[in-house]
Amino acid sequence: MPETIDAGGVRKILLLMADKIIAGRDRLNEIDSGIGDADHGSGMAQSFAKARERLESVPPGADIAALIKAFASGVMGGGGGASGALFGALFGEGAKTAAGKESLSPADLAAWWRAGLAAVQARGKAKPGDKTMVDALEPAARALEENSAAGFGSQTAKALEAARQGVEATKGMLAGQGRSRYAGERSLGHQDAGATSVALLLEALASAWK
Ligand code: ADP
Ligand code: MG
Repeated sequence: MPETIDAGGVRKILLLMADKIIAGRDRLNEIDSGIGDADHGSGMAQSFAKARERLESVPPGADIAALIKAFASGVMGGGGGASGALFGALFGEGAKTAAGKESLSPADLAAWWRAGLAAVQARGKAKPGDKTMVDALEPAARALEENSAAGFGSQTAKALEAARQGVEATKGMLAGQGRSRYAGERSLGHQDAGATSVALLLEALASAWK
């Protein structure tokens, strides 16, 4: 992939993300079974299958914002419950930050994730340390910003690494938002399901430059 992403590149990346989440279904359910209700993978897979479908129905020649917007509408309306709305917001912000652009730079990518994080927090009220998807999104957004001068390949690899560390860190957190907060002390030692999904999205993103 070149040093700016055009509409074709965005299409490719969104498809990689959908496929990664769909393939992660059982593992995400398993992770959510520890302290949640074992449905995170099913909900995410359903949402991202719908997103894939919506994306595939966007005609060739559509601009980047239209592609991400179609994808976001599938994530949001695909039946993924609480996290469907939150991940939908992440992509919805992507469409907004890409409005009017014919290509995305590494700085644009960083701006997307920073705005996405803000939207997820505005909607869900989770703070860093609450053992949610925010704990992977926030370090990833920071790594995308800090490494945007290095080009997409190393920028996205660094963001993936940061998200994975964020997922690992959720094991030591007590849940402060979402269903798993009812697990109290029992949530210690378990990684967060939504944070794991964020790491999968970044795995898909980084794989576009491998
Ligand atoms: P549900 O809890 O409705 O079953 P899911 O199982 O699909 O939803 O998703 C659970 C994940 O959603 C959690 O692992 C967490 O990362 C994320 N989550 C839940 N509530 C919030 C919130 N208020 N803000 C951010 N993320 C949240
Ligand atoms: Mg659940």
